[in-house]
Amino acid sequence: MLLDSLCYTPYRFVGEVAAVFGDDFSRFPGLWWAQAMKPSKKMWFIMLLFVFVVVVQYQISSVSLMGRPNRDGGSGLSYAEPAAALREELLRAAVGRLRLDDTISVTIDQKLLRDLMMQLGRELLGVGACGEASVPTAADPSLSKVPLTSQKTPRLYIITPTYRRPEQIAELTRMAQTLMHVQNLHWLVIEDAENKTQLVSDLLQRTGISHDHLVAPMPELFKKKKGAKPRGVSNRNRGLEWLRANAKSGVFYFADDDNTYDIQLFEEIRTTKRVSMWPVGLCTKFGLSSPVVVNGTFVGFYDGWVAGRKFPVDMAGFAVSVEFLLQRPKAIMPYKPGFEEDGFLKSLTPFEPNEIELKAKNCTEVLVWHTQTKKNEASAALDLAKYNSTNLMILKKLIV
Ligand code: UDP
Ligand code: MN
Repeated sequence: MLLDSLCYTPYRFVGEVAAVFGDDFSRFPGLWWAQAMKPSKKMWFIMLLFVFVVVVQYQISSVSLMGRPNRDGGSGLSYAEPAAALREELLRAAVGRLRLDDTISVTIDQKLLRDLMMQLGRELLGVGACGEASVPTAADPSLSKVPLTSQKTPRLYIITPTYRRPEQIAELTRMAQTLMHVQNLHWLVIEDAENKTQLVSDLLQRTGISHDHLVAPMPELFKKKKGAKPRGVSNRNRGLEWLRANAKSGVFYFADDDNTYDIQLFEEIRTTKRVSMWPVGLCTKFGLSSPVVVNGTFVGFYDGWVAGRKFPVDMAGFAVSVEFLLQRPKAIMPYKPGFEEDGFLKSLTPFEPNEIELKAKNCTEVLVWHTQTKKNEASAALDLAKYNSTNLMILKKLIV
């Protein structure tokens, strides 16, 4: 109400001031000094007052527009949404015009449009934050902002083993929508299966992330084995094989589908020269697996399960340069449950623990967590007689 009245009454106010300015200052006792002005100065004063009121009204109305709740349908989305939608519409129209123009040989694809929208979205959020809360807040200047865009090179290769289970699409959706924030990245999604899962292909296509969707089933020999299995090993080795055949430079990272990644991690990974390492949260009984660092120098490993390993680290805790891998044609991950990381890092010989490049501010930050999702039972069969012509027939195909 207050904002509305401030927005719509200032012209009336200026009009009233102007109307009485010539002779009747008794209504504005605070303006006694204006009465003494020459008529020409009075005119200048009124004009200045008018300009001031227009500027103030403009400021107030833009804040009011941004802060107004979404009335059509009440989706409760961001306050910046109408402006964002409008800008997206304008961008789409502009890109559409470029596409129609044969003389412009530049192809502006969906990804570019998405990047532009991301950029605009950030700007709008920035504006919104200023409008909503009175800035500056008590921000800690030592905290760096999470990057939504990143350096273009080197290219990142993310090798993700995955397999069909009730949680698969949920895990991959969360991971995909993290990776969508990272530029110049190629995602190798490798299923432990004979055939690709259509829902995974569809998800990958929707994200617009550069990717290859491959399969690499766990060998029967290990599937039948009792006890711990070498999970995700066939997939990761397939990823290494793909790199050897397709990549010449860049950095690769084994990123399981169920972990939680801070976008900053990918910027850390990008600067890997040979082999880099950093802490992993929620890992082992120590809640943490990390290189131990004294005065910026690596002195050992901290991990709740050492078991005689030369490299007692988690799969999510290291990245390797592609060139470094290509110089080691024998490097491979062993089918040895619990010793996959150690076996792979040892196969990168010659390479010693003291050569590790420390990331995440000398291993003082946690940028990845070894989260584990609760296992869900396969869903019960649908009563076809009862639900034959309902939406449940479609939904049932989306879950395991
Ligand atoms: N995985 C796989 N096949 C399996 C079990 C797991 O491809 O039979 C994948 C899984 O999707 C994940 C990685 O291998 O990306 C590690 O598996 P999991 O998360 O179950 O192991 P944990 O993190 O508990 O050691
Ligand atoms: Mn896991």
